[in-house]
Amino acid sequence: MSVTHAPQTADVLARQDPELAEILLGELHRQSSTLQLIAAENFCSPAVLAALGSALANKYAEGYPGARHHGGCEIVDVAERLAVDRAKSLFGAEHANVQSHSGSSAVLAAYAALLRPGDTVLALGLPYGGHLTHGSPANFSGRWFDFVPYGVDAETGLIDHDQVRTLARTHRPKAIVCGSIAYPRHIDYAFFREVADEVGAYLIADAAHPIGLVAGGAAPSPVPYADVVCATTHKVLRGPRGGMILCGGDLAERVDRAVFPFTQGGAQMHTIAAKAVAFGEAATPAFAAYAHQVVASARILAAALADEGLVVTTGGTDTHLVTADPGPLGVDGRAARGRLAAAGMVLDCCALPHADTRGLRLGTAAVTTQGMAEKEMERIAALLAGVVRGEVESVRAREEVRDLVGGFPPYPA
Ligand SMILES: *Cc1c(COP(=O)(O)O)cnc(C)c1O
Repeated sequence: MSVTHAPQTADVLARQDPELAEILLGELHRQSSTLQLIAAENFCSPAVLAALGSALANKYAEGYPGARHHGGCEIVDVAERLAVDRAKSLFGAEHANVQSHSGSSAVLAAYAALLRPGDTVLALGLPYGGHLTHGSPANFSGRWFDFVPYGVDAETGLIDHDQVRTLARTHRPKAIVCGSIAYPRHIDYAFFREVADEVGAYLIADAAHPIGLVAGGAAPSPVPYADVVCATTHKVLRGPRGGMILCGGDLAERVDRAVFPFTQGGAQMHTIAAKAVAFGEAATPAFAAYAHQVVASARILAAALADEGLVVTTGGTDTHLVTADPGPLGVDGRAARGRLAAAGMVLDCCALPHADTRGLRLGTAAVTTQGMAEKEMERIAALLAGVVRGEVESVRAREEVRDLVGGFPPYPA
């Protein structure tokens, strides 16, 4: 097994720095011998990893193609233009900025482009699945802006549209943010656009999670509705770790200046090249089939977990995401995650709407990249419930996990 999957660097690393090479191999082994159910993770392709491990990592490139502060950018300019063109065509956007170092940096830049410190912003509250950048007091967002949280309906778990409308009318926010780290259903972007228009607010869609499903035609696109769309490239989209912003031509210059020079310095050209590779992959029929399978598998997983007695938030999913309360099986999310980790099943805890206990958040993006489908989701749900109930010992569960993932190597030799 090669250390990085970037053929030009793998052997060099192993020879020069065996200590570090061993760490990389250890992580690769962990990823391929345990079950990756973290909803925000995926396995990017060897081609994406090759771009990340390329000589573009050496290049300083402050500014934008054709207008850089450094010399020698003529080649990386071509790479960035390619990434931008591919992003625009993939998402039908007038403008794309592919420089954001992460999803959070993209959100920071979107706020910088549209808001002033102290402005009021409406966003999904953190207990209901809002991201740190949606007003957490521990984050720049909560410190610099006046966030008003909206929530989800206590019965259905669905975003409370009436509350969104009422809060918007009362607080007249400068921007409304829609997007979540845990909401398993489609977001009604047309509704949010209507409310934003009514109160004269910008609409910012933070589509970090579903943007890969959007690319594959398996989820509705925020692009026709939102003034600015923020996203990550490393979740369902299956690219390198990083961010991206899409917007109309009218906001292009403001968004670009908010990324550089306002919130970032030099662009990471190796990552931008890897984003170009991922956008190219995401434009293929194979990726569309993948995105649809991700959703089909998540639906089966949600149904199977419900059959096992977990309380699935909103009763199911439209996306790659499933959140569930394992409470009826006798433990809360935190304890369940610990038992599952010991069994080699890697997933997250999450807040549960209107509950004091934590739930479990899992996703099907990574396991679907590995080639797993409906049958495996049923097997995973049964094993998960057995482990959480304490019926299946972790040693036996680990064996079963190894048997399961052994048939689906993420990076086949
Ligand atoms: C993942 C995520 C982010 C942040 O992405 P990072 O790359 O971790 O900074 C922001 N917003 C939402 C909704 C996300 O899901």
